[in-house]
Amino acid sequence: MTLGLRPGVFYRDARLYCLNLLLTYPEACYANCSYCGLRRAREDHGGRPPSFIRVEWPVFSLEEIIGRTRGRLNLIERICVSMTMHPRAYDDTIFLVRHLRKKLGLPVSVLANPSTMEEGSIEDLSRAGADMVSVAIDAATAGLFDRHRGGGVGGPHKWDLYWRTLDEAALILGRNRAGCHLIAGLGETEREMVGAIARVRRLGGRSHLFSFYPEEGSLLAEARPCSASHFRRIQLARFLIDYDMVDAGVMEFDEYGRITGYGLEGDVLDELVRSGTPFMTSGCPGKNRQCACNRPFGDGPPGDIRSFPFAPQEADIRQIRKELATYQETVMEEAFKS
Ligand code: SF4
Repeated sequence: MTLGLRPGVFYRDARLYCLNLLLTYPEACYANCSYCGLRRAREDHGGRPPSFIRVEWPVFSLEEIIGRTRGRLNLIERICVSMTMHPRAYDDTIFLVRHLRKKLGLPVSVLANPSTMEEGSIEDLSRAGADMVSVAIDAATAGLFDRHRGGGVGGPHKWDLYWRTLDEAALILGRNRAGCHLIAGLGETEREMVGAIARVRRLGGRSHLFSFYPEEGSLLAEARPCSASHFRRIQLARFLIDYDMVDAGVMEFDEYGRITGYGLEGDVLDELVRSGTPFMTSGCPGKNRQCACNRPFGDGPPGDIRSFPFAPQEADIRQIRKELATYQETVMEEAFKS
């Protein structure tokens, strides 16, 4: 829609500031992550393109994408190349980063797939022109990672390799240049998610949050979306940790591992909530904004926005306050039983 390749306007006039490009091969992704509509064993759904983060990913030629982007450099502030699990993925990513940098001059992020990368790959991506590299660890604990991405689904991904790659990215690219995708609602407690966010921050990276939403054709297609209250508390904690306002160690939790204290009291915390900023999409920055990769409605429908692609308004803040204060569910229902 932003490039005029598809008709339509975003709800509440949201704007997209980052082009999210996904590598595409005739064979589906070789991996089999439970929540993903792109996985190799996905059910065919009437020939429509597979969906991922609630949208379809139609295929267009690289040159057409570049041609149309050139005319929209006042709007688009970043490009992201997302790798899938495929033998060609790494070499094609290096080519694309170099080509896009040369043709458009925009900052380029890579959403890396460590399972297809070798020692030194991050250096190569940086030399090719990537200024940000993110790793989609997605699950907050080693057990959930294996259940949703590794042995639990016959998948190739390894928890330790993913963290090693993120560590390498932070070391090579520098502070705030490495990102970690984390999905809330895969069965973790808020304490476990805060633990993962704090680990990313100790490496010098920042976390990009997603609220779990069931994808058609995925193993979790029938699962419940992440609850708003669980996601809101995690969003607020992430903001405080990622912007070094609070050390995760002082946060408080109840017997179910839900956040009951953020280590920040009174007006400062209230002011932050009122600003709405902690509840906006977390992603790679642009030249004029803290987050260019705002993925409008990528993790929740317009009627139930999770990551706000624009500044929340007063009515949104009222709803957010209610959600922050809601502790109805005991423990997160395991979305996917092994
Ligand atoms: S936050 Fe967005 S731009 Fe950054 S790596 Fe993730 S998908 Fe790409």
